[in-house]
Parts: sequence; structure tokens; C-alpha cells
Amino acid sequence: MNSVLSEYLNCTDCTEATLVRDAIEHAIACWPELNWVAHRCSNCETINYIAVNNGSVIEGYPVHGVVPTLAETQRIVIRGLSVKCVPDGMRISNLNLSWYIDAGDATASSASPKQYGG
Ligand SMILES: [Zn+2]
Repeated sequence: MNSVLSEYLNCTDCTEATLVRDAIEHAIACWPELNWVAHRCSNCETINYIAVNNGSVIEGYPVHGVVPTLAETQRIVIRGLSVKCVPDGMRISNLNLSWYIDAGDATASSASPKQYGG
């Protein structure tokens, strides 16, 4: 069965594989209004974005717009993945694991770093 312990994301820059569990566990920011979580590649330090939904994770490049969207590069189905977004953060759970990611000062408009143009 697919889970955060068996599925890998690939860095959008260097393609380094990161376990979904590790990306969530080492998240550096989240945007609850978009379901986005950002994590830094351990190999090249590029910031990667994933959209965490109930039952799936989408990885992609952030696209600036009225509503920021992800240009999807990979979609991973993870049965039982659960996400609950509140204004201050995101609570994610799968299997017997759960995490709370604090949104901090992150805003939707800060989700597209300058290296992607804007
Ligand atoms: Zn990388």
C-alpha cells in the first residue's frame, strides 16, 4: 500500500529522491489556503513545493497568478493521507504518523520565489 513511507518525490532541480515522509517532516513552510508545503532539497538546497491533499500529493513548479498554482510534475496517490488546513498551519497524517506545520509568516504571494520569475 502506498504511504508516506514508501513514496518518493523528485527534486524539481536535481531530481534527488526524497521520501514523502521526510519532505513533510522537514517542511520549511506551508500555505494552508493552497494546501502547499515547501521543503528544501537535501542535495542542492532548491526549495520544492508540494500540494498535500486528502489521498494524494502533487509536486510541481509554482506558477504566479491571481491564485498561485502548481505546474504539476508528479502526482502520487497515497491512500489514507489526510490533511486538515487551519489558518495558522496544516495538520497532516498518514498511517500512525502525524505532523503539524506552522504557516508562520508565509503568505500565498510569497510562495513563488524570485528564481522562477514573477
Ligand atoms: Zn535538488
